Amino acid sequence: MENKEQTELQKKQKELFRQKTNGYDRLEDGEETLIRDYCEGYKIFLDQGKTERECVDYAIRLAEAAGFRPLVRGETLRPGDKVYRNNRGKALTLAVIGKKSLAEGAVIGAAHIDSPRLDLKQNPLYEDKEMAYLKTHYYGGIKKYQWTTIPLALHGVVVLENGETVTVRIGEDPGDPQFTVGDLLPHLASDQAQKTMGNIVTAEQLNVFIGSRPFGKEEGTDRVKTAILDILHEKYGMVEEDFLSAELMAVPAARAVDIGLDRSVIGAYGQDDRVCSYACLKALLELESPEITAVCVLADKEEIGSEGVTGMQSWAFDAFMSDLCDAQEVPLKTCYEKAFCLSADVTAAYDPNFAEAYEARNSAYLNYGVCISKYTGARGKSGASDASAELVAKVRRTFAENRVVWQLAELGKTDQGGGGTVACYMANRNIDTIDAGVPVLSMHAPFETTAKLDCYMTYKGMKALYNTKF
Ligand code: MN
Ligand code: MN
Repeated sequence: MENKEQTELQKKQKELFRQKTNGYDRLEDGEETLIRDYCEGYKIFLDQGKTERECVDYAIRLAEAAGFRPLVRGETLRPGDKVYRNNRGKALTLAVIGKKSLAEGAVIGAAHIDSPRLDLKQNPLYEDKEMAYLKTHYYGGIKKYQWTTIPLALHGVVVLENGETVTVRIGEDPGDPQFTVGDLLPHLASDQAQKTMGNIVTAEQLNVFIGSRPFGKEEGTDRVKTAILDILHEKYGMVEEDFLSAELMAVPAARAVDIGLDRSVIGAYGQDDRVCSYACLKALLELESPEITAVCVLADKEEIGSEGVTGMQSWAFDAFMSDLCDAQEVPLKTCYEKAFCLSADVTAAYDPNFAEAYEARNSAYLNYGVCISKYTGARGKSGASDASAELVAKVRRTFAENRVVWQLAELGKTDQGGGGTVACYMANRNIDTIDAGVPVLSMHAPFETTAKLDCYMTYKGMKALYNTKF
């Protein structure tokens, strides 16, 4: 329309309708460069941390470079102090002490660093028809067929009988061998084609191929398995029984890359939820002396219900927070009831290829910014921490004031399923909690995609929240 004059209808709609525009139309000057730079750091984070243990190690390296040190129980803490606690190498909590007392609460960003993958079973190695394989037990919610015929890397630790821990990371360096799970050729798949999705490939078929060369020239059984154990023994000093005290996992070997001719999107394994983990971590590491104490949680075990000693349900988080509170002689319960938590986790981005699974009016869109979810859950909000309208209003105002590009959505059509986050476990502690994070395409697939603008806006949003009093 050339006519600059707005009609009555247009004026009214501008005044009353929710404005929905692509994030690229809402950026500040120079922000595209910031987005690009931020995402370069994020891609390194993805490649360095393909397991929760590796994420913890890398996050500690970044934190120590930014002046953080391990929290000592009983020490005195001053405003601006930067501390962290490593929970058994699999989860990490960091804090920057605020100018105000913890009696005024804390601002917490909680994300998770575990991702769906193929864990090795405790007795994994076997030989069949002179080929050696590793049995796996998948971790988290996966479409099993997606994990066949892709290059895999082997990560984890083996604790030997003498107690020594050996770190394994094969398939990441140039020239490293990689691994794979096979699938049936289409020529012979007429029976397979009749099966439903969960049975096209079963869990017991997710066996990782690890070798085929027999040991020596002698006749005998299990010669390939022998040769594989021989390599493992030489490289790691391990014998077959050491698998029993190992945590090894097959993860996609692909590295984080730009996707699209315009490079607007990142493709990588494990973006759920390392994309929000990096956003919270980076925002925290850049804080110097916040008003309110800022906390970043990188939790483990979210993908299997946040259970266990390193999951968000563990008392380890409360122990960390009570250590902070003790240093200021503040009761933990006082801190919790004034605290705010952003449960930073991904949501599903609307996928036009599968439009039937989404409710377009309440879906998250690529490049529309960090996505607040008032609630998550499935089958009638079950498992959700439904944030209050008051809390949504505060977060909304903070984002608007700080020019954070944001949207609000829920995950797909109500009857299609759903999902949960750590939000309910934080809210159960009497902490006001709301979900927000990056919309992801192909979530839980070996190769997930996110929009760079949304990744950056989650960081920008978290940084704004760390500087807000709730
Ligand atoms: Mn998640
Ligand atoms: Mn997930």
